[in-house]
Formats: sequence, C-alpha cells, structure tokens
Amino acid sequence: MSSSTPAFVEIADRVFVLRYPVFDVNVTLVVGDEAAVLVDTLSTGAQAAELLAAARRVTRAPWAIVNTHHHFDHAFGNATLARQEPAGDSFPTFGDPGADAAAHTRIWAHEETARLLGHEETARRTAWEAVRAGSHPELADEVARVAVLPPNEIVLTEAALDLGGRVVVLSHFGRGHTAGDLVAHVPDADVVIAGDLVEESGPPDFGDAYPLEWPGTVAALLRLTTPETVVVPGHGAPVGQGFVTGQHEELTELEWLIRNGHAERARVDDLARRAPFGAAAHVAVKRAYTLLDGE
Ligand SMILES: [Zn+2]
Repeated sequence: MSSSTPAFVEIADRVFVLRYPVFDVNVTLVVGDEAAVLVDTLSTGAQAAELLAAARRVTRAPWAIVNTHHHFDHAFGNATLARQEPAGDSFPTFGDPGADAAAHTRIWAHEETARLLGHEETARRTAWEAVRAGSHPELADEVARVAVLPPNEIVLTEAALDLGGRVVVLSHFGRGHTAGDLVAHVPDADVVIAGDLVEESGPPDFGDAYPLEWPGTVAALLRLTTPETVVVPGHGAPVGQGFVTGQHEELTELEWLIRNGHAERARVDDLARRAPFGAAAHVAVKRAYTLLDGE
C-alpha cells in the first residue's frame, strides 16, 4: 500500500469523504449504528476495488449504494461495491459470498439515472467517448469494459434510508446537471451531498444538463442548508452555504442571459462570451437553445 492510497476523511460525525485524484471526484460514506450508505462509486473496476478496501477500513457494516446521477465517474463502480467484501480478513466461506451480496445490495437512484444506466451498451459507449475526450484518455478502454450494475431502488422525489440511529434523506429536486440528479442529506450531521449539481474544482458541466432548470434545483438544495452546513460537491473540496449561493447566482445569471438571448435571437458564440463559467458556458448555451427550440 503506497502513501498515495486514497482514504476516507471524516468531515462530520461518521460522515467520511474520499476525494479520488482521477477526475477529482468525491465518494461519501455515511455510517449508522447498523448500516451505512455509500454515495457514488468511481469509474473503473480498479478504482472501485481501491474504494471497496478504503470503505472497509472505515466500517464493517453492510451498505446501500446511492448514485447521485448516471455519469460513469459516479456509477461505474457499482458492481464492485455491491459485493460488500471485507478487506481480506474474513473467515473463509464456501461459494462466492461477494456474488451473493451483490445480488442483495440496494442501489438507490432517480428513475432517470436507473434508466440510463440500464442501457448498458449506450452507457459504456458514452463513457468511452467522454473519457477519450477528457483529461485521462488512457482510461477509456478500461471504463468501456466495466460491467455496469444499474440501480434497483428508484427514487421519484424522496426516500429516507434508516441506518440505525440516523437517517439519510434522498431527494430529487428537479433536473439540473442531468435529468436524474439526487441529493443526499444527513440532517443530524448537517451535511448535504450534492453530486455534480455543485462543483468546486471546475465549472459546472453542461453536457447532459438542463441549464434553465438547474438554478431552481440548486435553490431547493440550498433550503436544506444553514451557514454551518457542509456541502460535498461532485468534484473538489467540501464547501459551505456561501459557495453554493454564489454558484446559484451564476447559474441564475446564465439562465436569464440564455432566455433573453434566445428571445432576441442572439448568436450562441456572442452569448457564451458574456456568460459566467468560461468555456463551459458555450455548451450550456448551445444545449439550452436546443431545448428551447424543441419546446
Ligand atoms: Zn456528472
């Protein structure tokens, strides 16, 4: 084990975050008296195996999995994490206890996330294309080889997971980064796990986004927060209410720039130049124009 082995860090009472260096993506582990919840599962089998070992160093409790949305860097480790294997020191048993556990592990997500991950070939091809065009193209083939395990527990608007002595509330506040964004709230620890609805280490990503609906969804997320709340973004360091409020203001500015620009038939390039979030805004404007034209 090298010193660079990713590890979970406790950011609030029994709420642990593992910030994985590739894509700077966060996984959150919430531990109760009887069970745990693992929010998001990384990109590849190898990454997920590291994550499984790291999670088992924190807790031996059985866990449920939550996918904040369908993107590969948040969901492609599902099959590995669903196996629930301990970190190598269990009493030997007959058969394959990992496979048995995998069949019983609950994987929670919004129905749109489950639907998209259920189309395995499309999910793998889309991921392969995204990785090839991104910062780690060398991982594309590995990502494309993942056996995608889709969610088996559907959230339409809200679900409460009882971990024994504490609850994690899953909410779909509307579309934003994707059609199926889910927010996980740990009320007793004052932690909100935002997925890619909130981004710290880079601008929001608009490739599958609903730019005109995203501000309203983040506004609903903000109503869970106080000035003391810790918000775990999809990528980057945990942030506070002030950061999310700032990102909400920028998303709202972008929304109205697009609405007015579309009404005035402004060109995508001209609008994107005046928008927040730099180059990412170009994708947002283009996508929002397509959605508005389709209405
Ligand atoms: Zn994403």
